[in-house]
Amino acid sequence: MRDLTTAYIGLGANLGDACAAVLQAVQDIAALDCVVLTRQSSLYASAPVDSHGPDYVNAVVEVQTRLRAHELLAQLQAIETRAGRLRPYRNAPRTLDLDILLFGDTRMDSPELMLPHPRMAQRAFVLVPLAEIAPQAVAAGQMQAVQGQTIRKLDA
Ligand code: ADP
Ligand code: MG
Repeated sequence: MRDLTTAYIGLGANLGDACAAVLQAVQDIAALDCVVLTRQSSLYASAPVDSHGPDYVNAVVEVQTRLRAHELLAQLQAIETRAGRLRPYRNAPRTLDLDILLFGDTRMDSPELMLPHPRMAQRAFVLVPLAEIAPQAVAAGQMQAVQGQTIRKLDA
């Protein structure tokens, strides 16, 4: 049996009922085989970065998993597809985006899977919910670098 890995998954949506899409995705992740959901951040709203359309709803969850990183990614992409995700062009508005932010201390640099997620350090909508559930995973300097970005916590 493979070891358990602690992984952090970033969730985002900005089409339709984005809050419902993110909350449903949290449940879908929790229901995956070989995955245990251990922490869940609040929901946050943020304006699109390098994109357009309505505000995004974002959250981060922590899981413990016996899957390999690419197996987890495949499971997350299946959840995105079931949620009706289309990829008409890069950074298009989306019903659901699930990104692996951290997978233990794995480092990977293939186009299909980059770990840690290459853009997480530039995005307040990733760092703020991540710091809520895993303060040790976010350095003070990283948080300072995204201070100018507007993000607000949504009521539970
Ligand atoms: P983005 O999340 O960058 O806005 P997509 O969700 O369309 O864009 O992802 C594009 C590709 O990024 C996916 O096909 C996936 O293989 C790849 N990818 C690379 N690293 C990761 C990661 N850490 N988490 C999720 N997808 C990743
Ligand atoms: Mg993605």
